[in-house]
Amino acid sequence: MDLKQHIRHVPDFPKPGILFYDISTLIAHGGAWKETVNRLVTAVTPMEPELLVGIESRGFLVAAPLAYLMGTGFTMVRKRGKLPGGTIHHVYDLEYGQDVVEIQADAIRPGQRVVVLDDLLATGGTLHAAVDLLRKVGANVVGAACIVELTFLGGRDRLDIPVNTLVSYD
Ligand code: 5GP
Repeated sequence: MDLKQHIRHVPDFPKPGILFYDISTLIAHGGAWKETVNRLVTAVTPMEPELLVGIESRGFLVAAPLAYLMGTGFTMVRKRGKLPGGTIHHVYDLEYGQDVVEIQADAIRPGQRVVVLDDLLATGGTLHAAVDLLRKVGANVVGAACIVELTFLGGRDRLDIPVNTLVSYD
């Protein structure tokens, strides 16, 4: 099955000049979504994760069914102020300004094998920030996986972990 056929391209979103790769159409299609999740399971299983991590918010959609099928459970990396209880945060630089990612302080056991999931890899900034945060709380980040990769932005070159993606645009 060609998953690309199910990914809609939305010009000028969220800003003029940006072409947005919309996975809403992929997850809305039962067969395509099932195929996507199954392919991700095949890609992630050899990394032997003990826990999956989803990045807010579309990463949650990817991590939850994978964790269910793999029997690993999953945890959330969120924007600031969304998680209850004790949290650890990491501040990272954007092109203009800064952003913050956060995780619950007790979400990871020291040395736990973790794989990070998101819907799309663009510049790699988001995934990089999540990896930094996970290392701060003692995770052994063994890999990452996304549905889509925009290879022309070189995101994987910014990361020091194996990254699996199902569909790429160059
Ligand atoms: P990066 O930090 O790698 O530049 O951007 C990736 C993050 O932004 C991901 O969390 C992803 O959800 C979001 N993102 C950036 N561009 C797109 C896009 O074209 N389509 C989708 N679905 N997400 C995008």
